[in-house]
This record gives sequence, structure tokens and C-alpha cells, in this order.
Amino acid sequence: MAEQVEPAVLIVGAGPSGLVLALHLRLNNVPVRIIDKQPEFSIGSRATLIQPRTLERFSLLGITREEIFESGVVAHQMRIYAPPAGTTAVKTFSFQEPLEPRPSVPFTQPVTMSQDIFESILRSKLAALGTKVELGVELKSILNIGDEPPIAELHHITQNRTEMLKVPYLVGADGAKGVCRQLFSIPFLGETREADKMKIADVETDGITNEFWHMWGSFATAAVGLKPLGHGNKFQYQLVGPKVNHEALQTAEDLQKEFWEISGRKDITFKNVTWITTWRGNMRLAQSLQSGRRFLIGDAGHCHSPAGGQGMNTSILDAINLSWKLALVHNHHASPSLLDSYEAERLPVIAEMLDLTTALHEKVWENKNGIDSKAPPIEPTKEDNTDPMYRPKHFSQIGVNYRKSPIVFDERISSSEEGEGEGSGSSFYHSSTTLQAGDRAPDAQLTFTPSPEIGSVKSPHADTLFSFFHPSIHTILIFPGTSSLKSEKFVDFFSAIPWAIAQALVVLPKESEEEIPIISGCQFGKDLQGSAYADYGIGNGVSELTAVVVRPDGIVGGFAKSVGGVKTYFEKLLGVDGYRMLMSP
Ligand SMILES: Cc1cc2nc3c(=O)[nH]c(=O)nc-3n(C[C@H](O)[C@H](O)[C@H](O)COP(=O)(O)OP(=O)(O)OC[C@H]3O[C@@H](n4cnc5c(N)ncnc54)[C@H](O)[C@@H]3O)c2cc1C
Repeated sequence: MAEQVEPAVLIVGAGPSGLVLALHLRLNNVPVRIIDKQPEFSIGSRATLIQPRTLERFSLLGITREEIFESGVVAHQMRIYAPPAGTTAVKTFSFQEPLEPRPSVPFTQPVTMSQDIFESILRSKLAALGTKVELGVELKSILNIGDEPPIAELHHITQNRTEMLKVPYLVGADGAKGVCRQLFSIPFLGETREADKMKIADVETDGITNEFWHMWGSFATAAVGLKPLGHGNKFQYQLVGPKVNHEALQTAEDLQKEFWEISGRKDITFKNVTWITTWRGNMRLAQSLQSGRRFLIGDAGHCHSPAGGQGMNTSILDAINLSWKLALVHNHHASPSLLDSYEAERLPVIAEMLDLTTALHEKVWENKNGIDSKAPPIEPTKEDNTDPMYRPKHFSQIGVNYRKSPIVFDERISSSEEGEGEGSGSSFYHSSTTLQAGDRAPDAQLTFTPSPEIGSVKSPHADTLFSFFHPSIHTILIFPGTSSLKSEKFVDFFSAIPWAIAQALVVLPKESEEEIPIISGCQFGKDLQGSAYADYGIGNGVSELTAVVVRPDGIVGGFAKSVGGVKTYFEKLLGVDGYRMLMSP
């Protein structure tokens, strides 16, 4: 019989946030249990938009680009039709402003994929690591408060038995209606807007192309949309507006008739209506995301309007932020106080995103700027950033940063200047400023040079920085600039690296012709396009060495100009004792 390993973390809820957390923790070799009270996995599209910031993390979870596009499509164009026939396009426009294609950003547009499909991909990756979701297991209560390890009372529904599980850490990923928040005594601040409703269903139809997100009607009265759910003929049916009688619309036939009424498109008929639900306005943020050894992630900690497509994406970034910190603490590399930085980093970012999605929601539900398909047609494909369905590019979440985090460190600026850079007041897109500690680490194309020690490149496909980054260890990018690889300062840098939790990559400028030295554990890559030097803010021809410390969550944790800078970053992260222990022979 296989030996049972005691879980270090109990994850309550197997939606996207719980699954991503479980996957990250398993990739960090942390034993977990993940439970869900439902007897079967959820069906239904719910979140349909996966944002560029989420997409680019997939490779670290073992999800390839091919796997993404096997189930998902880039569906960035919305098409609005004029009555009464509903066949003439009033306008066609990008509902989310795309990012400029650059080597630093591998995905410029969101991908549409049904949430249930996405969850099944995550579950298969988790199962490959030997962890399965335990269905039909419900968290009922938690004994122990304060900093003691929680004792969870779990009800195994089919066997009707109770299990008491003591576990070092418990994470509530149990959604907006979950019990964890109440059990942790954390208030859920915000409002429920009963009047703001949306009828949603998953339908199949062969009557219309899946190249566009189609909309008919007016937000001032009733509007109906069909949003493609990947390849094929599956769409998410969306019905909003003050004139919609949600109570009267319960069956597939009701939804079909309402669609015909609003759109005039009798040629579009639905088959296989698999899921019908009514969303009610609920915009809330937990007052805190942590209570001792208990944490909230995802909708358990914040819920957004579906306007803007951010709920699931924000939830996933929570899971990614918490996972590697839990792993460092579990492995006794860092003090438990590191876990306080989860709330410090995430709460302000979530609060700002909640404001953005609520503002977008109001444009639609309060019809401040409602679509009017009776308006004279404008040029097809003309961009329309005044449309209430339009989202600016910071909705990609690429700009999300933790510049004000207590654990990031920038040796290039004095402590009085910290967090005062241009745009640092905003937690989101800040394309006009140079990279700072706390920002997302950009991607770049590199030509990896075989290290004389290793004899070959780590992977024959390791041609981007992102392919080199790792979900469980830090990556120290060393930019030697024009300084010699034989210089004492360069060689010295490596003495400050805690190799048990870090790897190093020397990024050589494109013109570098120096012979590559043997440095144990280090790889070398040449920045042939110059984009790594440019995007990491290292000037051309700079003679000074710079080390950029990239965290396992893809955030720049620190900029260091000296060995002392690297040491300071890790001391801030792990505590002085934690760092000393890792560095002791
Ligand atoms: C109509 C609609 C459209 C949306 N569109 C988008 C979009 O386009 N983009 C986007 O990013 N987001 C969107 N969202 C939001 C997105 O669906 C949520 O943000 C996402 O599901 C949150 O994931 P989660 O894992 O935190 O919680 P959930 O998905 O809610 O999962 C929580 C899980 O916990 C389980 N659970 C609850 N209580 C217990 C318990 N006591 N014990 C054990 N298990 C328990 C539940 O059964 C459930 O499986 C949309 C949501 C809706 C409703």
C-alpha cells in the first residue's frame, strides 16, 4: 500500500483558484489535499475569458500553448446588429484593447475558453502529479483559532462520516458563498445588487459564426449576446436589461423565444442547452485574506461583476502569489511571517480591480452609456472605445505589480524614493515607466549557450526567459553589461545565491564575444534581439553589473548592484536566520 503523506495544506474548494494553488504546491513538492463538497465536477461556462497574464503562467503549470488553443480561441471582436432583422452589423470592434506584440509579452489578447474545460485541464495536470480532487467532502467547521494549526471538521457526504483533520495550513478557495470566510470571522465588505441580473446559459447553434461575440438589442431595455466558447458551435448565451423578466425565463424554450424576440434572428436555433443560471450583482471584498494559518483565495475573498472578465483571473493570481510562499515556509526556508506578504501584496491590487470591474458593470447595468442598435451604422471593424463593452488594455492584468510590497527590494534607488516612481500610484498598467522591483518580469528571446560544465543547454527549447523561469525556485538574471566575466565582482555575485532555492542565468549582451566561464549551476544566454536589456531597463553599453531576482510567481523581487544587494533581498524574504541557514555549508 502506498504510504499516506500528511498534507501540509488543506484546500477547500476545487474551482480554478483551488486547483491552481494545488498544482503550484505540488510542483513545489508540498503535500496537499483538495476537497470539494459537490458530488460531481461543475459544468457550465461561467468565466470565459483567460487574460494574457494568466495565459503566460500556464507554461509553468505544464499547460502548453497547443493545449490552450486546442480548447480556446482568440475571440476579441464584438459585433452588434441592428433591428429589426438583426442581420446588419452596426459595428464590429475589439472588446478588449490588444497589447502591442513585443518579445516581452507572449500573449497579447485574451483567450475564450469555458471554465469547466479549463478546470478539467487543471485537474488532469494535478492528477499527473498524483493528486486528485476529493469530491463529496464538505468543510463544516474549524476548531482552533489564532496561530494554532487548524483542525478541520470534514463531512464525507456519501459515506455520511465525519473526519477531523489537523493540518498546518488551510486555504479557503470555496467561492463567494463558501463557509471559510465566516469561519475565519472575516467580514465581506461591499454590496449585493439584487436588481442587476444576467441570465446565462450554454447553448449550441449552427446558425452563426464563432468568429465574433454577437450582441443584439439595447442595455436600456433588453440585450442578448452569444459569446463563442472555443472552437465549434458552443456559445455562452447572455441576457441583460431592465425589461428582462428573469423569473419567467426558466427553460431552454423560454430562452430561445426571448432571443428571437430581441434579436429578430429566427434563423438561429439552439440545441443542447446544458446549463442555465441567473447571476445577481455581488461586488465584495473580504476585509482581510488571512487569519493566522488560514487564508482566503479567489471568490472566497473577492467577487466581481462578470463585466470585464476578471474574477477567475484575479483568483488565479491569488493562488500563484500564495503558493510559493507557503512552500518556502513549509520547507523551513522562510519564517511564517513571509505569509503576511500575501495579503499585503494582493489586497490593494484586488481592490483596484474591483473598482475597475464595478465601473464597467455600471456602464452596462445602469445604462449610463448603453448600446443602441438603432444608432446609424458606423464603419464595420472601426474601433469604438466609447462602447460600454470595451475594456482598455490594463484588463489584460499584464501591469499588475507589487511595487509597494514589504518584501521587494531595489538597490538602485534609495529607501526614501522607494515606491515613488512614475505610475507607482496605480497598481495596473504602467507602460511609460521603467521596470521596478515588484513588477512583472518581462519575457525575452534568448539564445542559450551550452555551459562548458553542463555540456548542453538545459532544454533544447529553452529559447525564452519564460521557459527558463521555474514555479518553485527563484531565478537570478545577471546582466554583466560590458564588464568582464573574469572580473572579481562578477564571480563574487554567485557567492550570495542560495542555490537550494534559486537558479542563475547570465544574460549576455548581443555583442559579447567573451569565453564563457564554468560557474556551477549557472547557465548563459545571449540577448540577440536586445529586448532583455531594454525591457529590464539595463542600458546599452552599461559597464555595471546588475542582478535581477525573479520570484517563482514571475515578479521581479529585487534589483541588486552588488553582492550585498542579493543578500539583502533574500534576508528580507527569508529572514536573516533563514538566509544564513541556507548559505551555511
Ligand atoms: C456568469 C459568470 C461569468 C463569469 N465570467 C468571468 C470571466 O469572463 N472571466 C473571469 O475571470 N471570471 C468570470 N467569472 C467569475 C469566475 O467564475 C469566478 O471568479 C471563479 O469561478 C472563482 O473561482 P474560485 O475557485 O475562487 O471559486 P469557485 O469557482 O466558486 O469554486 C469554489 C468551489 O468550492 C466548493 N465549496 C464551497 N463550499 C465548500 C465547502 N464547505 N467544502 C468543500 N467545498 C466547498 C464549491 O463547490 C466550488 O466548487 C464569472 C462568473 C460568473 C458567475
